[in-house]
Amino acid sequence: MSSKSLIAITGASSGIGEATARAFSAAGHPLLLMARRMDRLEALDLPDAVLKNVDVRDRAPIAEAVAEAEARFGPVGMMFANAGIARLGDIATQPPEEWDEMIDINTKGVMNSVHAVLNGMIARRSGTLMMMSSIAGRKTYPDHTVYCGTKFFVHAISESLREYLAPHDVRVIVLSPGIVETEVLDHVKDPATLANYKANKAAIGGGITADIVADLILNAYQLPQAAIVQEIVITPTRQK
Ligand code: NDP
Repeated sequence: MSSKSLIAITGASSGIGEATARAFSAAGHPLLLMARRMDRLEALDLPDAVLKNVDVRDRAPIAEAVAEAEARFGPVGMMFANAGIARLGDIATQPPEEWDEMIDINTKGVMNSVHAVLNGMIARRSGTLMMMSSIAGRKTYPDHTVYCGTKFFVHAISESLREYLAPHDVRVIVLSPGIVETEVLDHVKDPATLANYKANKAAIGGGITADIVADLILNAYQLPQAAIVQEIVITPTRQK
């Protein structure tokens, strides 16, 4: 068994979650990888990895997956609450069902992921919560109304959790990327919104790679437990 801590990642089947799984695996960590597309998790073909078909909107399966992985690899050292979707669109014409989905996955899904490891980390006086927000959790952007709302939520709970968990020696890091080249745009249904986003992205020469973000996450995690990077803001250099 690896001597390194178990790393739990939601939304590990593509993009930033997948890149982070690869980075921590290369650093010798066992993994708990969660997502709905099991074929994509299996295709990663990483050693010492428990793969679980989990929808983060369902609380119990996350806790069950954590218990199973901890029985095999020991306590979770970091929960990366990463799973999220961006159904961007004009707020006046966007179907409200798209809000529901974003709110459920990006806010309740994050809390469900935190809940699965919170008391264990408090009891052990050790652990890291890596909270996936966005630069859209720090300021607003056109066609991002509800998406921004969900990411401001992640900022707010992260700040509150950090204050609560600091005396318990548990770290809470909020991650705020700008444009990263992933499958995130696949969720945007409104053609005008998609065209605007792509034009803005092209104007700054494209997004950064998910590997850049994953390496930063690994570097922040590898600091001694007594030190914390409270927030990681990482964007393409040309993104303002
Ligand atoms: P991807 O679409 O590539 O990855 C999203 C991941 O979330 C997938 O693994 C997907 O897995 C998972 N996911 C979505 N819904 C659920 C669900 N209900 N239950 C479990 N897993 C789910 O995009 P990114 O890597 O870009 O997105 C990751 C996070 O990064 C998101 O929270 C996003 O908001 C955030 N972000 C992305 C930025 C970007 O520019 N790319 C910028 C800032 C933040 P599956 O479908 O298999 O379940």
